[in-house]
Amino acid sequence: MSTKMNFQTETKKLLDLMIHSIYTNKEIFLRELISNSSDAIDKIRFESLKNPEILNGDNKFEIKLELKDNKLIIEDNGIGMSYDEVIENIGTIARSGTKKFIEELKKEENNTNDLIGQFGVGFYSAFMVAEKVTLETKKYNEREGVIWKSEGNGEFTIDKTEKNNRGTKITLELRKDIEDEIKLDEDKIKELIKKYSNYIKYPIKMEIEKEGKKELEILNSMESLWMKNKKDIKKEEYDEFYKETFHDWIDPFEIIHTKAEGSIEYTALLFIPSKLPIDYYSKNYKRGIQLYSKNVFIMEKYEDLLPEYLGFIKGLVDSPDFSLNISRELLQQSRQLQIVKKNIEKKVLNTLENILKKDQKRYIEFWEQFGRSIKSGIYENLTNKEKLENLLIFKSSFEKDYTTLNSYIERMKEDQKYIYFASGENVESIEKLPQLEAVLDNGYEVLYFNDSIDEFLVQMMREFKGKEFKSISSNDLNLKNEEEVKKLEKENGSLLEEIKEILKEKVSEVKLSSRLKTSPVCIVTGNMGISTNMEKILKELDQ
Ligand code: ADP
Ligand code: MG
Repeated sequence: MSTKMNFQTETKKLLDLMIHSIYTNKEIFLRELISNSSDAIDKIRFESLKNPEILNGDNKFEIKLELKDNKLIIEDNGIGMSYDEVIENIGTIARSGTKKFIEELKKEENNTNDLIGQFGVGFYSAFMVAEKVTLETKKYNEREGVIWKSEGNGEFTIDKTEKNNRGTKITLELRKDIEDEIKLDEDKIKELIKKYSNYIKYPIKMEIEKEGKKELEILNSMESLWMKNKKDIKKEEYDEFYKETFHDWIDPFEIIHTKAEGSIEYTALLFIPSKLPIDYYSKNYKRGIQLYSKNVFIMEKYEDLLPEYLGFIKGLVDSPDFSLNISRELLQQSRQLQIVKKNIEKKVLNTLENILKKDQKRYIEFWEQFGRSIKSGIYENLTNKEKLENLLIFKSSFEKDYTTLNSYIERMKEDQKYIYFASGENVESIEKLPQLEAVLDNGYEVLYFNDSIDEFLVQMMREFKGKEFKSISSNDLNLKNEEEVKKLEKENGSLLEEIKEILKEKVSEVKLSSRLKTSPVCIVTGNMGISTNMEKILKELDQ
């Protein structure tokens, strides 16, 4: 005798929404059902570790799909459910994700369509594509099976039934009225498995017609690269994975594969591309990292796992702590996610630091693509400011090569007070600056700022390890012969006055200079003022 029962009021509301929603992402139902099957297999596998006999010979774990007429069947040999468990799990809302979903629903300001999209909402999502759902299940330690049926209209029936094999079989009678939106044929199913469930650990099998014959085919690749042991992965495998997943044709510059265990568990597989994407600085560029939970795909391009300045990084993070049923908003508030974020940012910075230390040539390759991003990180980022500053490199008068600020400081002369820099469009034009030679003559090294943001950057930094930055076009350079010049200036006061008379308001002061050797005159900016180059840049911005 089958028993008729009512769903809880809240479940009813949810089902109603599912069925009548015009929400377009109906395809996620398959991900949800398959992840439930995978969880159920995990559970029986875990139980069988203690007691292998419970498997009763049925130890080939698998998920089978069958598509026939208007029916889609999803069957697993997982742990199964008892009568009471079916009522508990499928009839009432006890699930964390679903509960949150309902709470959000109650808030009037929320748009229901958005909400369904944000939450996976589990088993009930079947009703987005099915007008009738039948679930048959047998728990491994029960003698009888259970059959549950519902048309999503507020009630379900439940009954005991004959079922021989352990596990759960779900039959969906597909809705006709959604065919325009989602046509569930063989190809579509294959596509959905690849997209959402490719890395499920157990084979997902389906009978496929091939040259008139039916053949059982495995639709998923089963093994996720990131869950494998690092030692067992070849560089080529990483490269292939990167190119295929992130649509690049060049091998990545660097691979970061890291696992964390303990209070927060996650695996991150990150890639630094070799080339800056051409649209990186355009509005079209979408940064972000893929999210997975135990091999199940949750989200493409989640922006809040890395700070903005690391937007060029590609990759994914897989964590059992990310629930499938979670919205971007809730995720953002999650403490765990904030910790993961902090950790992986640090990991990226440490990796770069290592490259810089071990192989400066290689670091320069990186720098020429992404140096600007590191600089912009200094604006954005207060927590890792020091780490980022250590990653800065500039061309300099020393061997005309790139230098870090640390190496600059190591080479500083004993009497040298400042970190000198000269700005210009390129190295050649910087080297023609008349002010340069006096500073070099003092034996002081000068950084060449040929990126328009460099000067803004040091204005913001002010100093590095206690040494102030100083433009060679400012008027107090603290050069050795400055005392002598002051004396000369006193002696020639009237001459200087006269020149100032002639130039009038074109200049604010006329002074003798200690910084010229071969050029007779040069224009300098005031102590507090910006350099002539920066003035030029600001003028350009103004136009
Ligand atoms: P969640 O997976 O987040 O718990 P779902 O709505 O997807 O929420 O599933 C509800 C519950 O129903 C699961 O937690 C599980 O206990 C049970 N369940 C669903 N599908 C299966 C299945 N194939 N085998 C065994 N139990 C299942
Ligand atoms: Mg689920």
